[in-house]
Amino acid sequence: MNGHPDQLINKGAEMIVQARRILVFTGAGMSTESGIPDFRSPGGLWEKYDPSDFYFQKIISDEGVRERYWEMSVESYAAMKDARPNRAHLAVREIEDTGKLLAVVTQNIDSLHQKAGSSPGKIIEIHGTVFSVSCLKCGKKYDRDEIETRLKSGTKVPYCDDCSGILKPDTISFGQAMPEDKMREAIEYAEICDLCIVLGSSLVVYPAASVPEHASGSGAKLMIINRDETPQDNRADLVINRSLGETLGDMMEKVNRG
Ligand code: ZN
Repeated sequence: MNGHPDQLINKGAEMIVQARRILVFTGAGMSTESGIPDFRSPGGLWEKYDPSDFYFQKIISDEGVRERYWEMSVESYAAMKDARPNRAHLAVREIEDTGKLLAVVTQNIDSLHQKAGSSPGKIIEIHGTVFSVSCLKCGKKYDRDEIETRLKSGTKVPYCDDCSGILKPDTISFGQAMPEDKMREAIEYAEICDLCIVLGSSLVVYPAASVPEHASGSGAKLMIINRDETPQDNRADLVINRSLGETLGDMMEKVNRG
């Protein structure tokens, strides 16, 4: 959709003012504005490592794969650990302050929405989080930093203290089932929202991208703010291809000014 940025921002602000139940859906573009490289972009982690090496089945069946997986994981965690939320994350928190937010469904695993002050109970991390690690056998949870300490002191592949089971960060790997309860919750919100705001997702990863699809399919308005085009642009009421922080930040300033 073309138009002067001010006009698009005015239109977006109006959509937020008129909405009663807002669902926010966020992807990697949110995190890149906080300096976290997109795995799939040039220079991203998938240029150095082959993602097909890290299919869930391979991780659980091969010790050598687990060793490389943890190497890769240490690198990605280092990029996320100290990242700070940007203006777009703060603007999402301001949407919550309007009292209209149903939930933030995020594809991101960096917990930046929590760091920006969004209520943890409103955040649905459909691809999990890097900040915890679980035993795949007994379910025991570990803080990521505790496992990080073991890895830094020479452990190549950490195992569970209680049952010696395989440990894995609480992120969803290729070939690993999505958490059913979280997806169900996300779809339920998509079906009852009257405005779905997509931020920084190219909407090509499924089943995640089915969330905004369900929203617009159930009659909600759809706003997409993303650097590039998406396959759902033709269903959207407003598309803005511009910086997220600047765009949503300006939009919320307008909303807050009334
Ligand atoms: Zn265990």
